[in-house]
Amino acid sequence: MRKLLLTGCGLVLVLYLLPILWPLDGTDTGAEPLTASQAVPADGQAKGQTAADYSVVTVEIDGTPTELPLEEYVAGVVAAEIPNDFPIEAIRAQAVAARTYAVYKLSRGRPEAHPDADLCDDYHHCAAYRDIAVETASGSDLSRVQQAVEDTAGEILTYGGSPIAAVFHCVSGPRTESAKDVWGEDIPYLQSAVSPGGSAYDGYEDAVTISADDFRAAVAEAFPSADVSGTPDSWFKASARSAAGGVITVELGGVTVEGTAVRELFGLQSTNFTLTTTENSIIFHTIGYGHGVGLSQYGAKYMAEQGSSYSEILAHYYQGTTLTKL
Ligand SMILES: [Zn+2]
Repeated sequence: MRKLLLTGCGLVLVLYLLPILWPLDGTDTGAEPLTASQAVPADGQAKGQTAADYSVVTVEIDGTPTELPLEEYVAGVVAAEIPNDFPIEAIRAQAVAARTYAVYKLSRGRPEAHPDADLCDDYHHCAAYRDIAVETASGSDLSRVQQAVEDTAGEILTYGGSPIAAVFHCVSGPRTESAKDVWGEDIPYLQSAVSPGGSAYDGYEDAVTISADDFRAAVAEAFPSADVSGTPDSWFKASARSAAGGVITVELGGVTVEGTAVRELFGLQSTNFTLTTTENSIIFHTIGYGHGVGLSQYGAKYMAEQGSSYSEILAHYYQGTTLTKL
């Protein structure tokens, strides 16, 4: 079971630590829009790659730029992101999402964070990565992961002819979030979608209790103009929620703050939270795990169990996209 928790929802850790990281552009501002033109000139072109040639990528692994076949890199990401015992169609969907996200990043050129590599193994920045050979040698069965990557070799999702920012997460509430509601940027293929089956995840519902003293200290540092001098039941006022249930903004001590900021500050599993209070504490109750945008890994699992193919799963979570070959 511990193994499943470690590898069963790779983004659990990622998104717990980095709840508001905007994952699309390699910065950690948490708010960088997709359309921001931050890409440095593509080094890939300098070494002879074209937009259609991503067969070999340079990945910074443990700090060292390492050349890898794209497919080997994708397998390592999938191994880090989804359990080997998930339904094969869900793993295939994850493989296409991971490959697409890699190609999306490749298409934007090397970032300032690692000018000597196309991608890195830091989930804060690019994507988590596990070395398949090392993992297999130590006894992990990754046969289905490898099979799913082979089955979908070269397949990516495009929108308007360009590779998409195929973000994904562990598990959403009954609906996924839109990119606009979470990151403020309307992305046509990252809209809210129904996503049943999330309760299969052990940590689908969670609660975090914060003492009044700790709460005040955290808020004083993060939102110094918020007045939290009263009792816990007076701290939060009206919130604006997305159609999926996530808190977009909430009034905290007279200041409007983003749900993603509250999530980060208190280490909540998602922005889909409600509150209860006692005299000297506040309890956040959350549903789901992760930013909630794009493919839900547990939603994909559910769809696969209901008979959906990976292409149907991808079309569901990334609306209006085309499944194509590199
Ligand atoms: Zn990176």
